[in-house]
Amino acid sequence: MYGHSALSDVLETDYLVLGSGIAGLNFALLAAEHGRVLVLTKKRPVDTNTNWAQGGVAAVLADDDSFERHVEDTLKAGDGLCDKGVVELCVQDGPAQVQRLLDIGVRLDRKDGGQLDLGMEGAHSRHRVVHWEDVTGREIQRALLAAVANHPNITMLDEHIAVDLLSMAKYGGDPACFGAYVLDCRSGEVKTICARATVLATGGTGKVYVYTSNPDVATGDGVAMAYRLGAAVCDLEFVQFHPTVLYHPHARNFLLSEAMRGEGGVLRLATGETFMENYHPMKSLASRDIVARAIDNEIKKSGADCVFLDMTHLDPAFVRNRFPNIAEHCLALGIDITKQPIPVVPAAHYMCGGVKTDVTGATTIAGLYAIGECAFTGLHGANRLASNSLLEGMVFSRRAAEAVRDIPRHRPSQVAPWSYGTATDSNDAIVVALNWEEVRRFMWSYVGIVRSDKRIERAHRRIEILRDEIRQYYLDFKITSDLVELRNLALVAHLIIESARRRKESRGLHFTLDYPDKLPEALHSEIQLTNGPRG
Ligand SMILES: Cc1cc2nc3c(=O)[nH]c(=O)nc-3n(C[C@H](O)[C@H](O)[C@H](O)COP(=O)(O)OP(=O)(O)OC[C@H]3O[C@@H](n4cnc5c(N)ncnc54)[C@H](O)[C@@H]3O)c2cc1C
Repeated sequence: MYGHSALSDVLETDYLVLGSGIAGLNFALLAAEHGRVLVLTKKRPVDTNTNWAQGGVAAVLADDDSFERHVEDTLKAGDGLCDKGVVELCVQDGPAQVQRLLDIGVRLDRKDGGQLDLGMEGAHSRHRVVHWEDVTGREIQRALLAAVANHPNITMLDEHIAVDLLSMAKYGGDPACFGAYVLDCRSGEVKTICARATVLATGGTGKVYVYTSNPDVATGDGVAMAYRLGAAVCDLEFVQFHPTVLYHPHARNFLLSEAMRGEGGVLRLATGETFMENYHPMKSLASRDIVARAIDNEIKKSGADCVFLDMTHLDPAFVRNRFPNIAEHCLALGIDITKQPIPVVPAAHYMCGGVKTDVTGATTIAGLYAIGECAFTGLHGANRLASNSLLEGMVFSRRAAEAVRDIPRHRPSQVAPWSYGTATDSNDAIVVALNWEEVRRFMWSYVGIVRSDKRIERAHRRIEILRDEIRQYYLDFKITSDLVELRNLALVAHLIIESARRRKESRGLHFTLDYPDKLPEALHSEIQLTNGPRG
């Protein structure tokens, strides 16, 4: 069965990987050298944040650059909350990870002389972002999927969504993780999969907000499952809002890369006036949080729907050449970016917090690893430096693949199958859709770019009512992938709210009107279930 040994109705593998983005697939390739790997992905394998990444991967490769500069830029963006040791190890591993991407078969743009072309992005002090046109993520995803497909030790199952993690605590042991219950979205059957190591590579949480650059899969499942199991989660209030997502009635979640401002794009109001000089000396090249807040403020002040990203003063051939896919996408919507300023709004983009891990990707629960965007490693601090996340996915998937090699297998002699209980088929799917919509809207309004105690408390009251309703719905009806995601989305919203409630200061991405200053001491907001794992 699936090339993995089946014990009655329980599937066994060495490494169970949840997610088919950069972190999950790079882990799979490396771990497959010493064990069998089962990769699950809840939709199609290409439905990942990775596939949508445009800008590229940050690494020190230029003669005028240095590890110290990249470390310094990362620490500056992180606003006092980065773990310097983690930043150093990521930055120093950067060139090797770019080489690994090339070895896997990823194409990267080169200059005429053959050297890698290095893009400039906001808050980087040097050109250091390797890229493939403006669709770097798509190219990385393509190459990784091709490599995985050719590996005899890796099996991939699409349309399989992990529902909950398996814990030895349920069998009287320590809360070690030994696999997951997984819903086969096509058949509706829930499978039990046991593994020596279970690896969360489930990506981001953007769908918690109504405006997001993330694809539909970004519902924070890994964070929610890990928290329910009893793992510590950290710094979830630090949600990065990308300043420039296309504002257009027929375009969903289309990002206009940071690199557009890096290459000279300028933000303007509808009147044509620039405004970033009123917010930061780096103007349109200031870090994302500053730019997003400035746009949010200008939109609120003027009542306008959006602001504009202007590329029209740049050489049209350069713009079309450097951003071919963005140019083509916009043109299809009637916007020639070489001639017209592009309407933009901010949107939820990246989760800096996540499941707490050490430098090997190990969480606080034995047997459970977290890598990529769902993990909190200490790299990003209170704000991520652009293009450091694909790098983080590569660095920590490699480290985790090494760390799991010798870990012991935890497993009860008899594993309880999934209990369908008395659940019936849902006849009220509209409830799921409405609750989903409601969470995303109030999170945007109350726990978005600019927060306050009052707004956060409003969100807190609403999420508790909704979580009660969702819990009841979850017990009464057979699970579907929508319901699994809604339950996770609501839990992640709750955790973001709780983290935001605790932070009585403004730092990095967390900006609150009630505490506009930074406290002298930089503290993390760590949360963990105190009453043991909950199913
Ligand atoms: C538009 C956009 C542009 C970006 N540009 C850049 C950039 O230029 N540079 C950069 O460094 N970063 C960029 N980022 C961020 C970066 O793409 C992500 O942080 C990174 O790709 C995350 O990789 P990942 O492997 O952790 O997760 P993802 O690539 O998001 O993969 C997550 C996987 O987990 C699966 N999954 C989730 N839940 C479950 C479940 N319950 N069961 C089974 N499977 C599940 C999903 O289906 C998916 O396969 C960008 C992000 C976006 C959205």
